[in-house]
Amino acid sequence: MAIWYNMTAMNMKTVYFDNNATTQVAPEVRDVMLPFLCELYGNPSSMHVFGGRVAKFLDRAREEVAAFINAEPDEIIFTACATESDNAAIRGAAEFSGAKPKIITTAVEHPAVLQPCRRLKAQGHEEVELPVDSDGRLDMDALRRELAGTRGAIVSVMWANNETGTVFPVAEVAGICREHGAVFHTDAVQAAGKVKIDVKSVPVDMLSLSGHKFHAPKGVGVLYVRRGVRFKPFMLGGHQEGHRRAGTENMPGIIALAKACEMARVGMAAEVEKLSAMRDRLEAGLVAACPDVRVNGDRANRLANTLNISFEYIEGEAIAYRLSDLGICISTGSACASGSLEPSHVIRAMGVPFTAVHGSVRFSLSRYNTMGEVDYILEKVPPVIAELRAMSPFGPGRTGGML
Ligand SMILES: *Cc1c(COP(=O)(O)O)cnc(C)c1O
Repeated sequence: MAIWYNMTAMNMKTVYFDNNATTQVAPEVRDVMLPFLCELYGNPSSMHVFGGRVAKFLDRAREEVAAFINAEPDEIIFTACATESDNAAIRGAAEFSGAKPKIITTAVEHPAVLQPCRRLKAQGHEEVELPVDSDGRLDMDALRRELAGTRGAIVSVMWANNETGTVFPVAEVAGICREHGAVFHTDAVQAAGKVKIDVKSVPVDMLSLSGHKFHAPKGVGVLYVRRGVRFKPFMLGGHQEGHRRAGTENMPGIIALAKACEMARVGMAAEVEKLSAMRDRLEAGLVAACPDVRVNGDRANRLANTLNISFEYIEGEAIAYRLSDLGICISTGSACASGSLEPSHVIRAMGVPFTAVHGSVRFSLSRYNTMGEVDYILEKVPPVIAELRAMSPFGPGRTGGML
């Protein structure tokens, strides 16, 4: 079949700096999951010994994932992805409440949070999207104002932003939510493996994780639900996951996720040090070599692996395409919508200056990147920027007849 045949053509050298989109499966992770694709194929819900053996591995995996965020094993629900976890948390909490609680989220959430919140708005809930400042910092006064006088609101604020790497003060958010009896969900997908997650010291009620964002494969996620927090399950059917998520468990994915959690738990401190050294060199090098750039996000509270940078007067898409030809994989801060280049909702919410909005790109690193790759990027990017700017109708003092 063509799809298999074409895979041989994919050995082109790539310098992959798009790890906030997805990551490489760690070889150690692949090794532990393989038996569950082969001989250990039993259904953990089966009564016989063959299923029972697999069920024991499911228990062990649940303990490992719980340890990663300092939760109890029965607070861990395995899902198919973080999009499912986000939907299940927000819609499940709203449905359980019976009334129509106020929904409070932020303007810079992932669509997996924003869209369910907007659906609830369409269904009659009051819904608020909290603003951020030009560095992507959350307006905590707005959060306090919106919660004042409410009881039982549902709040969803991400731990760290996928586009800028800005880390939100989730401990403070959790404390404020507690004062107002609000249910607090956090999308911690980008925090996993990069900042410490401890649900005993940061009292979140619900939390989402995604395997493929930290070196497990695609198709497995986690929803943490604190004991005593009630929600109506989203997936109905069998009794799996303590009646909270029906469907036969994705055993290879779950085992892989548990191994990725163990590796992140053990290796995080060293990894963060390595990531920030590479990211800081990349950032300093680009800022030094390219005039008219803007680093987007809260540089004082930012994931160690993320650099979102605007090259003024040019399009992020053009940069990404050129770099792709050189084997360099990055993301843009804008999405091409119906032929017009719309900046991302995150960059727009930050009120990034006009000249810098469209030229934003994201470099996101992982443990598998090297300083050599950083230097390769530092060699290749500045000439691309200079060339694109020479062709641009915009520039300092040049407005392309637009203004
Ligand atoms: C990738 C991502 C998601 C979605 O995760 P999936 O497992 O791919 O559904 C949700 N939130 C954030 C912040 C992400 O970066």
